[in-house]
Amino acid sequence: GNKIRNAKLVLLGDVGAGKSSLVLRFVKGQFVEFQESTIGAAFFSQTLAVNDETVKFEIWDTAGQERYHSLAPMYYRGAAAAIVVYDITNAASFTRAKKWVQELQAQGNPNTIMALAGNKADLLDERQVPAEEAKAYAQENGLFFMETSAKTAINVNDVFYEIAKKLLQG
Ligand code: GDP
Ligand code: MG
Repeated sequence: GNKIRNAKLVLLGDVGAGKSSLVLRFVKGQFVEFQESTIGAAFFSQTLAVNDETVKFEIWDTAGQERYHSLAPMYYRGAAAAIVVYDITNAASFTRAKKWVQELQAQGNPNTIMALAGNKADLLDERQVPAEEAKAYAQENGLFFMETSAKTAINVNDVFYEIAKKLLQG
């Protein structure tokens, strides 16, 4: 049969890493150079077909500002999946991503599927975070890792597709 599986998904990461842009790319196939900062959190939904099954993602795009930090557990608790996003051109955003991973490991649900997305992969000339370093970190921490670009669309659908496959396996 053609079942629909609902899956709450949260995006976490530093302000400016490209969380909203990844969601906009995935949900609407669009990119804007001057994406407005998210206030609090924004909600989107999008379905994805995997073989003969359908995953309906209920996506919470969080703000990332420190002043909204206390709200974050509302979004990651009970989440089937989390995408932790950093910007490959910003080393501080990678440090921040690792903090989010720690927090999810300590406070989140152990069954939450976690992905690490190194975004802005189109800006290779400005790279500060080596892909190998992020890949090794992801392996050590049981996350799956991809470099993405919301701008060019590289690997954006793939991250959601990998999550959907893992959800349906689990
Ligand atoms: P958020 O705060 O994590 O939601 O980040 P935004 O989605 O608002 O993006 C912050 C800025 O980075 C915006 O100006 C985006 O246009 C830009 N941006 C986001 N993703 C990419 C990307 O993959 N490549 C490039 N070059 N810029 C991006
Ligand atoms: Mg945002």
